[in-house]
Amino acid sequence: MKVGKTEKVLFTITIDTECDHDPNWARSRPLRFDSVTVGLPERLQPVFREAGAVPTYLLTVEVMEDASSVHALRSLQGEHELGTHLHSAFIEPEKKFFDYAGIDSPDFQCHCGPEVEYQKLRNLSDLFERCFGYRPRSFRAGRYGAGANTISSLERLGYDIDTSVTPYIRWRHPDGDVDYRDAPEQPYYPAPGTLTRVADSVGTSVLEIPVTMRPRLIRGPRWLRPWFSSVETMKDIVHYQLRRHRDRQVVVLNMMFHSMEIIAKASPYPQTEGDVQRFLDDLAAFLDWCRSCGFVFAASGKVKRALADASDDVRAVT
Ligand SMILES: [Zn+2]
Repeated sequence: MKVGKTEKVLFTITIDTECDHDPNWARSRPLRFDSVTVGLPERLQPVFREAGAVPTYLLTVEVMEDASSVHALRSLQGEHELGTHLHSAFIEPEKKFFDYAGIDSPDFQCHCGPEVEYQKLRNLSDLFERCFGYRPRSFRAGRYGAGANTISSLERLGYDIDTSVTPYIRWRHPDGDVDYRDAPEQPYYPAPGTLTRVADSVGTSVLEIPVTMRPRLIRGPRWLRPWFSSVETMKDIVHYQLRRHRDRQVVVLNMMFHSMEIIAKASPYPQTEGDVQRFLDDLAAFLDWCRSCGFVFAASGKVKRALADASDDVRAVT
């Protein structure tokens, strides 16, 4: 599929990877990790391998504290990237919960003081390194609750990618809303001290890859996300993005969902094995269509380099 000046469509899949939840979005009681130990190796990786897709699993504290989950992740077959995902109530400093079973986590990390948020991200990243032996490159905030300090902390910690921004959405919170209504749709380097403003010249070194959406006039946007959107709706979102950004040499699409969505009753979404199968069938059908369109699948950590290479190509021919 070729639209306008676009020569390449990069398709990335970013997955919040957490303990199983319940249908009300509280953590399971007792705490379970079927989505990581069964869902990733037996349900998701086969679909991704078949399509040639490369997922990025963004890991929470409790997943990295669970030996069976870490073992499953270290043994994962097929191309993938591992990164981090913060629910800030579950890590020091100012850790609120030590037994996570049955707990909800409404906190936005951007409401922490800058130094506390940085230390939480540092502890999360250090935990990742102890589990996997290298530094993580990609990140998403729990509840999408990121702010300008999140980006500067990620920069200090050597991250390449943040994917917390959900364009067209304002997330309500009593301590202050997180407002992405004016955020860009395509990847950008935020101006220093901001999360949603594109840098005029020198931005931060962290590339923001927003979750792919299609806005609607009255209701909230459509998400590039199985279960939230049918296969036809996801195709429609892709067509919208390609038309809207036809002047770009590279267009990036970022699908998101949670690992828990492929275990029945482990999230508010699929509740039966039949629902899970429908989720996986839709995912497989959509990814197959993406492949047939010639889209290039890439882990989120590879997008920054791919965009830099594309701009080198531009300079080479002009
Ligand atoms: Zn989360």
